[in-house]
Amino acid sequence: MHCPFCRHTDSRVVDSRTAEDGSSIRRRRECPNCGKRFSTVETASLSVVKRNGVVEPFSRDKVVSGVRKACQGRPVNDDDLAVLAHKVEESIRAAGQAEIDATDIGLAILPPLRELDEIAYMRFASVYQAFESLDDFEAAIARLRAEDAAAEPDPS
Ligand SMILES: [Zn+2]
Repeated sequence: MHCPFCRHTDSRVVDSRTAEDGSSIRRRRECPNCGKRFSTVETASLSVVKRNGVVEPFSRDKVVSGVRKACQGRPVNDDDLAVLAHKVEESIRAAGQAEIDATDIGLAILPPLRELDEIAYMRFASVYQAFESLDDFEAAIARLRAEDAAAEPDPS
């Protein structure tokens, strides 16, 4: 890490702090040449391997744009989408891998999207899971209903 003041090629770490969500580390550094201090932020890289083999950095914006279409006309705003993208990133980072398949991102999107809006969820799932017929929709809806029923408190 070059010193931003004198371009010295070395620096000494004087303090390290991990961000609350654990996704980055902020370091205070001191230049041994000019004695000035500066900060750097390190983020663990998270790469996405696309179906065609291309590797690109994970992007919350891409998650949002991928989901936005499914949310058209639904009561979902940009804040909701930002929270969703954050949840997706957290669940992916929690897996602790530096590289993930694009399809795994789709899988990670499904649970928080379902919490957000079931219609948007069905739309997204139908594209992502390549529903081919009404039977696929029926099966997915039956699954949703069964899980909703199981999640409801016992009326007795
Ligand atoms: Zn310096």
